[in-house]
Amino acid sequence: MTKSELALEIIERLRKEYPLAGCTLDYDEAWKLLVSVRLAAQCTDARVNIVVEELFKKYPDVESLSSADIEDIERIVKPCGLGRSKARDISACMKMLKQQYDGKVPDDFELLLKLPGVGRKSANLIMGDVFNKPAIVTDTHCIRLVNRMGLVDGIKEPKKVEMALWKLIPPEEGSDFCHRLVYHGREICTARTKPYCEKCCINDICCKNGVEPV
Ligand code: SF4
Repeated sequence: MTKSELALEIIERLRKEYPLAGCTLDYDEAWKLLVSVRLAAQCTDARVNIVVEELFKKYPDVESLSSADIEDIERIVKPCGLGRSKARDISACMKMLKQQYDGKVPDDFELLLKLPGVGRKSANLIMGDVFNKPAIVTDTHCIRLVNRMGLVDGIKEPKKVEMALWKLIPPEEGSDFCHRLVYHGREICTARTKPYCEKCCINDICCKNGVEPV
């Protein structure tokens, strides 16, 4: 089986296993996902979802959050860790949205990358989830799993993993595939424990179990 064939087979099996997998950050507007994804660095999505309740209640739109005191944003987001730098980025990002994009999140990958605190992972997440465009989100689960599965060979750097996956994953499948990797990474192919290969839906084709793609 080639890597491309392996990728297509894994996509199908994960689709059956996690048919409804989606973004685990709660949001109802694009700018809120931008804020949440910045807060999610080195923090769980579950904690972010709790913390943003107070933030969005107090600052319900781009206008109000862009004018908020950075110290107050920091106070609220502190439980997510890295409070100061996250608060600074969120404030600068909201200001830029207000000043340059009329409060709207741009649907262009390169423009997203220019927003403070937005890297490739976040920009891809926004492109895929908000705008339904092709996206590969290389978070920690994605990187761990695609290495174990044999879709990439010992690549840990997020951008390199992303570039390798673009060659294997049909563009329209990327966003859902990456969400499913998160579910699979949390439940079965876990980081801290030995992965539960005996319960895994791809254990007969996984590289970790000795099946090498050509
Ligand atoms: S077989 Fe094991 S290592 Fe491979 S994806 Fe499944 S849980 Fe992970």
